[in-house]
Amino acid sequence: MLDAFISRTPELADTSVIEFCDDGWSGKNFERPAVQEMIAQARAGKIQCIVVKDLSRFGRDYLTVGNYISCVFPFLGVRFIAVNDGFDSIRPTDVDSLETSFKALLYDLYSRDLSRKVRSAKKFRAQRGDFLAPFAPYGYVKDPADKARLVIDPEAAETVRRVFHLAASGHSADQIAMALNRETVPTPMLYKRAAGCSRTRWPSIEENNFWTDTAVVKILRDERYFGKNIFGKRIRDRVGHTHTVKVSREDWIAVENTHEGIVTREEFDRAQTAMREFVEHGELKKRDWPLRGKVRCGVCGHAMSYKLGKQMYFYCYTPRYNDSFACVKQVQGADILEVISDGLRVQAQMAVELSRLWEEQHREQKKDAAAVKKNLAGLRETHQRLSQQISGLYESFALGEIGKPEYLAAKAAAAKQRDDTAARISELEAALENMGADGSLRNGFVSTFGKYLDVKEITSEITAEVLKEVLVFPGDRFEIAWNYRDELEKLILDLQGEHQNGA
Ligand SMILES: [Zn+2]
Repeated sequence: MLDAFISRTPELADTSVIEFCDDGWSGKNFERPAVQEMIAQARAGKIQCIVVKDLSRFGRDYLTVGNYISCVFPFLGVRFIAVNDGFDSIRPTDVDSLETSFKALLYDLYSRDLSRKVRSAKKFRAQRGDFLAPFAPYGYVKDPADKARLVIDPEAAETVRRVFHLAASGHSADQIAMALNRETVPTPMLYKRAAGCSRTRWPSIEENNFWTDTAVVKILRDERYFGKNIFGKRIRDRVGHTHTVKVSREDWIAVENTHEGIVTREEFDRAQTAMREFVEHGELKKRDWPLRGKVRCGVCGHAMSYKLGKQMYFYCYTPRYNDSFACVKQVQGADILEVISDGLRVQAQMAVELSRLWEEQHREQKKDAAAVKKNLAGLRETHQRLSQQISGLYESFALGEIGKPEYLAAKAAAAKQRDDTAARISELEAALENMGADGSLRNGFVSTFGKYLDVKEITSEITAEVLKEVLVFPGDRFEIAWNYRDELEKLILDLQGEHQNGA
């Protein structure tokens, strides 16, 4: 066809013709040997004109094609003709024509379409149950006889089975990882490497050499372990690129019984149920965090940092930048909680006991708020009179009416009376504050702490109510600062006063 075109084009009729044939090579690939050879000869000045059937035969990458047509060939003085496209670079309008680039663009799209066809062929194979990923999942190897089949790798499969059984029997992902690390079981990553995979995603020493909870959960969630094949979790987002994007679950191709399962469907489901429990439990723990903002280093006075995890612990950061403090290196959160719950029980017993004492005293003395108020008013008058008396004594001494020894003795006696009265006033004030309108005990310490006689677990609700903070000292010594200390003092003052006056 091209020969016919050349012979009926007058200016080409007498030229010698070299044929470049690239049958069998993908039109998309511009690195085709024939194309490269042709371009090399054009560069060497051996070619004056290039004639192709259509642009799609020359190359489907429109940017490259455009670049050759508009820059490379004009520079080399090579005329370019695409017969079916009616393109001839000798006509300047053709070179710039939108049509050219538009067609080139279409070829590029055509190429994309082809790749989609390749993809659907893969999809077809996946639907048939073929295993198409480049590497077998941990626990399997590709069947040497049929690369699209998975066969069990006995050693790694044993580990997979153990992971499922441990999870089903209630072990958390960290506990499972810990067990495997203790036995120095090779990780899936090391296994994959041994199988020839050189791709390392976020290379980290831990991931490579140690089992992590993430690695364990990944196994537990992988449905391939009961014989199901999944394809199309990710697709390339652009043709020819290696970057991939996630595909939503309903678009995955899942085929059951494509290979022998390492665990049964039942074992798999049991592990899922157990895993949901420990995941939820872990999240609950994160939400309920009773020691948040409550732990301080007793040595340097700074808030202690903490690490959450299975074993939550606190540490003081100060020694890392200041070695003049002998701070506590590490203390378990569980230990602090235990000290708090023990302490809280003691406080609760005290609250109950003090409340009982108060009721007893008030029953005996038949106290009521009105009587206390009347008594208090009298005492305040006495207090004022004594203060005036002391000033009067000083005046008499200054005027020479009394001598110094008499003055000092009289002043000391009056001052003692006045101080006793002041103390009695505070006691009655406390008593009034501790008494409700109906004459019963009203005290923040008693009502708050009295509830926790049988406290089992310290929650964040409890610590928010009763705990100001915990100070941590070396040698497992803790100092707890409780809330409602002023209320407790008021109650004790009240009780002491009643005791003294009643005796
Ligand atoms: Zn410290």
